[in-house]
This record gives sequence, structure tokens and C-alpha cells, in this order.
Amino acid sequence: MEEKNKIHRRSFIKHSAGTALALAAGASGLTTIAAACTATKPGKTSVNLITGFTQEPLPYAYNALEPVIDTQTMEIHYTKHAAAYASNLRDAAVAEKVDTTKPLEDVLSRISSYSMKMRNNGGGHYNHELFWKSMKAVSKGDNMPTGALMEAIQKDFGSFEKMQSEFSDAAKNRFGSGWAWLYLQADKKLRIGSTPNQDNPLMNISDIKGFPLLGLDVWEHAYYLKYQNKRADYIKNWWTIVNWDYVQSRFLAY
Ligand code: MN
Repeated sequence: MEEKNKIHRRSFIKHSAGTALALAAGASGLTTIAAACTATKPGKTSVNLITGFTQEPLPYAYNALEPVIDTQTMEIHYTKHAAAYASNLRDAAVAEKVDTTKPLEDVLSRISSYSMKMRNNGGGHYNHELFWKSMKAVSKGDNMPTGALMEAIQKDFGSFEKMQSEFSDAAKNRFGSGWAWLYLQADKKLRIGSTPNQDNPLMNISDIKGFPLLGLDVWEHAYYLKYQNKRADYIKNWWTIVNWDYVQSRFLAY
């Protein structure tokens, strides 16, 4: 009986949150990106695609991604670098009168109307929140998607390996600091690209535009302690910790 009540309560909370987000979306004139985030289509995976202005807890321990990402790098990355983006984002939001109860995606889609501080830290916060969720402990065998996402990758790139190689090249060739992305274009095609600094495909100033499914941080702070100048090794090993279930849930929910 108690268990049943718990389940009812959970689905009520979920439903209420969805309604609140839908109202927020209507009031702020969100683009299709955020509108899609609020819709739970029947038979589709339910996943929260809305990003807030504070850090969510890391979904695993600092040592969970060893040996691909070492414990010290994870701890500094999450508690110092990513925490600073979140904190600076909130400062920028106060200064620029952004309603932080609304989705961060709303700000990113109109980032040209805001300061460089908002762009760097709003992007920095969004990108890292996505990054943590899209990784998991090293997989023993092959680590690749299944189902609808795999079919879409095969359709749009020819094969999983071709997608991987294009993505790895984008990550290797990003000069200086930035991110590589697998994203969904408005035409629903999967695409690969990269952005400088903390930009991302949700931003209206970005050369590549769409909904990010998977992003790889290629700032030196993400790998330097363990890999030093060997970015290519970091990228190669990172494929073994990609959480394809999470990437697929974004693909299905969007
Ligand atoms: Mn980073």
C-alpha cells in the first residue's frame, strides 16, 4: 500500500513539473527545442531534457570512470571547473535579470542578446551537465548504441565506425579548447561538428545548430593530468565510457 502511494506521488510530481515547464515554455516563447523537451510522447523514453542553473550531483563517484578518466581529474573538473561555470552563470543571470526558474536552454537559444560572461558560463554549465550524464563505467565488450539510435547512425553516417571516426576527427582537430558534438539537426538528421570554447549547437551564434545528443570536452583540463598532450589517446579511450543508453534516451525523447 505504501509502495503504491509512493508511485502515485512520484507520477504526480512528474506530471506537475511537466505542466509547470509547459507553462514556462509558453510564457517565454521557447523554440521547438524546449517545447519538445516538455512533451512526453506515448511510447517514448521519458528523460529530463531541461537544464537548470545549478549543478546536479555527479551521477557516479569520482573514481567511477577509471582508468579512462582518473579520479583527480574528475574531482577537479566537477568541483572546480564546472562548479565555477555554474556559479558565474548565476552571477550573470542576476546581473542580466534572467529568470533562473526557466530553462537554461531558453537563454542559450538567444545567447546573442546576452553578455560574453553569460555565453561562456551558460555554455560551460550546460555542456558539463550533459557531459557527466553521457558517461558511465568502462564497458567490458563493445560499447555501442542499439535500436533506433543505431539505425539512425547507420542511416546518416553509413556505419557506427564512420560516425565514430568523424566525431574523433572533429575532437582532435578542434584547435585550442572546445567540444565535439553528435547532434540532431532541425531536419532530424544526425550530424557531427565542433564548437570553440564553451559554445554549443543550441546557441544562435553557433556555426552548427541543433539539439546536442553527445558532447566531448576537449579542453586540456578534461584530460591533461593523465594524458598530457595526447588528446588522441583520451578520445580513443573515451569511447569505452560513453553511456549510449543515455544518449539514446535523449534521441528518443527529443
Ligand atoms: Mn570541462
